[in-house]
Amino acid sequence: MLKATQPGYTETRVEQMLHLKRLAVVAERSSNAVVLADAERRVVWVNAAFTAITGFSAQESIGERFGILLARGSADPAAFGEFAVAVRQGHGHKREINIRATGGESRWALVDMQPTHDDGGALTGWVLVATDLTNLRAQQQLLSLAVDGAGLGTWQWDVRGGAVQCNDRMLEVIGYQRHQLEMTYQVWNALIHPDDLPPWGAAVRAHLQDSTQSLRMSVRLKHASGRWAWMMFVGAVVDRGADGRALRLAGVAMDVQAQKAMEHELRAAARTDGLTQLPNRSVLLQAIETAIARGRAQPGYQFAVLFMDFDRFKQVNDTLGHSVGDALLRQIASRLQDSLRPGDSLIQTSDFAHLAARIGGDEFVVLLDDIRGDLDAEIVATRLIDVLSIPYMIGAHKVVSSASIGIVTSNHAADDADSVLRDADIAMYEAKRTGRARYVMFEPSMRQQVSASVSLENDLRQALDKQELFVVYQPLVSLRSGAFAGVEALLRWRHPMRGLVSPVEFIPIAEACGLIGVLGQFVLQTACSAFAAMPCSSACAAGDQPTLAVNLSRAQLRQAGLVADVQDALRANGLSPEQLVLEVTESLAAQDALVLSTLHAIRELGVALSLDDFGTGYSSLSCLHELPVNYVKVDRSFVSQAEASAYHRVLIEATIRMAQTLGLYTVAEGIETQSQAELMAALGCDKGQGYLYSKPLEADALVRWVARRGR
Ligand code: C2E
Ligand code: MG
Ligand code: MG
Repeated sequence: MLKATQPGYTETRVEQMLHLKRLAVVAERSSNAVVLADAERRVVWVNAAFTAITGFSAQESIGERFGILLARGSADPAAFGEFAVAVRQGHGHKREINIRATGGESRWALVDMQPTHDDGGALTGWVLVATDLTNLRAQQQLLSLAVDGAGLGTWQWDVRGGAVQCNDRMLEVIGYQRHQLEMTYQVWNALIHPDDLPPWGAAVRAHLQDSTQSLRMSVRLKHASGRWAWMMFVGAVVDRGADGRALRLAGVAMDVQAQKAMEHELRAAARTDGLTQLPNRSVLLQAIETAIARGRAQPGYQFAVLFMDFDRFKQVNDTLGHSVGDALLRQIASRLQDSLRPGDSLIQTSDFAHLAARIGGDEFVVLLDDIRGDLDAEIVATRLIDVLSIPYMIGAHKVVSSASIGIVTSNHAADDADSVLRDADIAMYEAKRTGRARYVMFEPSMRQQVSASVSLENDLRQALDKQELFVVYQPLVSLRSGAFAGVEALLRWRHPMRGLVSPVEFIPIAEACGLIGVLGQFVLQTACSAFAAMPCSSACAAGDQPTLAVNLSRAQLRQAGLVADVQDALRANGLSPEQLVLEVTESLAAQDALVLSTLHAIRELGVALSLDDFGTGYSSLSCLHELPVNYVKVDRSFVSQAEASAYHRVLIEATIRMAQTLGLYTVAEGIETQSQAELMAALGCDKGQGYLYSKPLEADALVRWVARRGR
């Protein structure tokens, strides 16, 4: 046994005293209430915090049994009872109790009561430490209210052990009952969408390494029903080991399904054309921009932009209604997609990527990516024109339409997507102007032409009102007798600045901008009334009545109501159908069923048809019999070369023979010399027209011309 005089004993006592002193300072300064009592449970010491929390001063407390102090301060008799039992049994006890504080308000405290013993194990006293939990509890309560109120899921993950905990709300969002799901990290990870798992894993790893920012990410979890449920996880490391490694992650999870669905819809809506579900203009512009950039970076890379517009779409909309127009656009979109699909055997070159978009009205654009050259674009354009011109069945309506395509390839591509699209539009306009249902490759020189024709178009819209349009008449004569045989009405435009503008220039513009209908009616009515007023309209050579020929453009032949207009014009001016001849150009006449049926309807009225400019278009002698015409007009280019070129002469002769066989009359256009007239007569041509006889004349001048000739 150590004695006090022994050096070891003294040292230990001194150390113990020092130790106690330190503890006393800690206890004194602690914000927790500290009570020391002797073995009889009488209070021997309390710290300042005890007084502050309970309101009992040191004087009041010392000497008092702490049980009585506790009983006085306790707001919770049951909890107090537990402490009393533990004390009687000499055990320690620890629990949260509700105490009544100085001011009478109730507070929450964690009371930890422990007995102290001497080395021999005899009870020497009691130590009570009470921690004020009131604020902490209030905060916790507020937090759980917030979590519940916001419908948040909560979760915890034991990083080392792999166990996961969550609240019921969390399970509810993904449709599981608690017993259905094993609460391990592996099982929960397996619920994450395969596309979201790698970024989620990366985000977690990044957060474990650097936890200054909270972990925040939306992922899809597999709902019990099989669908994907979007949830946003926010969390942070809440516990770290002594080595600094994360032990526990905790956080909340929000159901963001509705938000994601809305985001998705908005994003899709901003990129899709609502009617056809094709990508829209902004997607297309982006794709073209990408192609331009790639072209700059990668030599040899080529792309093409095909801009297409549908002939007669506006008419379909106007005459059959918008729902038919919409249905037509949808059918066009699906044909486009079908024919661009790689499996389409007709586009054998379609191993390159493509994008079909609708950028407005009846305007569709296809971007061909990584093509080998212009030829690829031309092959696709040809294929599309074929496919898109097959008649469309919309309910009971059969709609005939065709696409005109403008193509810009990388060779002539401008520096930005908008300009590329504008140039493709220009080429498309050129395709329309030069015959429709065809494609035109863009060339930079087209830009000037277009700006000129745009201003011409604006002027043309006002030309009728301003009475700048008028009709002239060119006489036709019988090549056999030289007698007056009729007239051809030709439209003229006296432009205030440009002077006389040729119909060759403005008729295609009128067709492209939809003015041809009005213009055509004007010519028909003006010519019929002028012709009816001419004294020469009935004064003609024996048997033969002079005829009035009026030109019809291709666009007019496809307009509903043309036949009725013709009938009205005849009736209004007292002309008989036999006096009228309508001229159509050959290439269009054979083109489609709608045109053919109109031609037949005109013939049924008793009005004659004349095939204009024969020899310049696609149709040949062999299909002459397929058209319901009465006259064939040999084109001026043949007549002018007939004397010099045997080839042309032979062709004219063959045409005249074929016409005679079919019972058709022939007219030679553009006869300028006497010898041409004689040659045409010798070849058996019936009528002639040209500067040799007269240039086109205004009505009164023509009347004088006929009168002179008659003399
Ligand atoms: P087209 O129907 O073949 O008309 C004949 C054209 O040849 C007319 O040109 C006429 O002035 C011209 N011409 C007649 N004889 C001679 C000649 O001996 N030598 C030469 N060098 N030319 C001659 P124009 O009036 O400029 O008309 C050109 C085309 O415009 C017409 O060709 C026709 O396709 C179209 N066009 C004219 N008026 C109308 C119209 O009212 N409606 C429609 N749709 N097209 C019209
Ligand atoms: Mg003509
Ligand atoms: Mg002609």
